[in-house]
Parts: sequence; structure tokens; C-alpha cells
Amino acid sequence: MNIILLGPPGAGKGTQAQVLVEEHGLVQLSTGDMLRAAVASGSELGQEAKAVMDAGKLMPDEIMVQIISDRISEPDCANGFILDGFPRTTAQAEALDKMLEEKGLPLDHVIEISVDDTILIDRINARVAQTPEAERRDDDNAETLKHRLEVYHEQTAPILPYYEGRGMLKKVDGMKSIEEVSKQIGAIITAG
Ligand code: AMP
Repeated sequence: MNIILLGPPGAGKGTQAQVLVEEHGLVQLSTGDMLRAAVASGSELGQEAKAVMDAGKLMPDEIMVQIISDRISEPDCANGFILDGFPRTTAQAEALDKMLEEKGLPLDHVIEISVDDTILIDRINARVAQTPEAERRDDDNAETLKHRLEVYHEQTAPILPYYEGRGMLKKVDGMKSIEEVSKQIGAIITAG
């Protein structure tokens, strides 16, 4: 089973992906985590990623498409994967379609976790207040979030009609509790 989780930054995609990993034995493919690992390794990719992420911008499509294309070909993905943070642009969505077709892999569910911007801003302010500075993600602050939300609405939200038009998009209410959102996602998956 291969799943895409869509939704704005801070909607809980990573949290819900973890639930799916535990319940369905899928692999979580978080492009944000992959980029953060590259930053930590100090590689050339990591240096580029750090500047882009800190500014709340997006990495170039070709780089992200290549990273995902390589990753989904690895053996641990054979049982199914959850894409968390990819695709983020229409070009990435189109490239994903093409690579899945070429690799003979199905796309089973596209799930949007929807959350209003105001709630995301409240959540981030609460998180900043609670998390010691040393433990905070560099891009986890109200100013960067504002920019990331703009980028989401301009570049990522247009993916929604792309999947909706193909009758693939299912929406869950990300403003509910973590457990309730998991339940909604579980119901979509069970319904097939
Ligand atoms: P995330 O952890 O998914 O919120 O991603 C953190 C940051 O990594 C984003 O704000 C982008 O700068 C970058 N990033 C992650 N995934 C992608 C992607 N698919 N395309 C472009 N940039 C990405």
C-alpha cells in the first residue's frame, strides 16, 4: 500500500505517518527528514538544503524527484511507503506519477490533512514557547512558518485539484485530536 499525505506544514503529517508505520508496517519517506539528515552530514546537498529550509523555501524539483526515485526503489519500500512532504509542487506530482508507472507501483491513497492557517500559527507559537532553544528546528518559528504557509498555498495546494480531478483525494480534519485524525485515516484505508 502506497500513500501520500498532503497538508500544510505543522498539520501532523509526520505524526500520522508514524501511526501508519506502526499499524501497517509501511516505510515513512519524509523528504524533510532526508534533507535534515543531509544537513547534519554536512554534505554539499545539506549545505544547499540548510539555506533553503531556513528561508522556508522549497528545494529544486529535480533534486527532490531524484531523491524519492532512488529511495522508493530500495527493498524496504516493497511492502509499501508513505510519502510525507512529497510531492510539494505540481511538477513533483507529475514526476511521481511517471516514476510510479515506470516502476510498476500503485498509488493507493492520497490523503489531505487540512488545518486552518490560524490554528497552525497558534500551534507553532505554543511549541516555540514550550521547546528549549537547543531542541528547536531552525525552521520552526512563527516567521518562517508564515513564509512556509505562503509557499504551501502558492505551490503545494495546487496539487490538491490535481488528485481530486482523478477522484483520488480524501480529506481528513486535521484540527481534531491526533487519535481522531488517525481514526479518520484508518477508515479511509480500510474502505480501500
Ligand atoms: P518538512 O519537514 O516536510 O516540513 O520540510 C522541511 C523543509 O524541507 C521544507 O520547508 C522545504 O524547504 C524542504 N522540503 C521538504 N520536502 C520538500 C520537497 N518535496 N520539495 C522541496 N522542498 C522540500
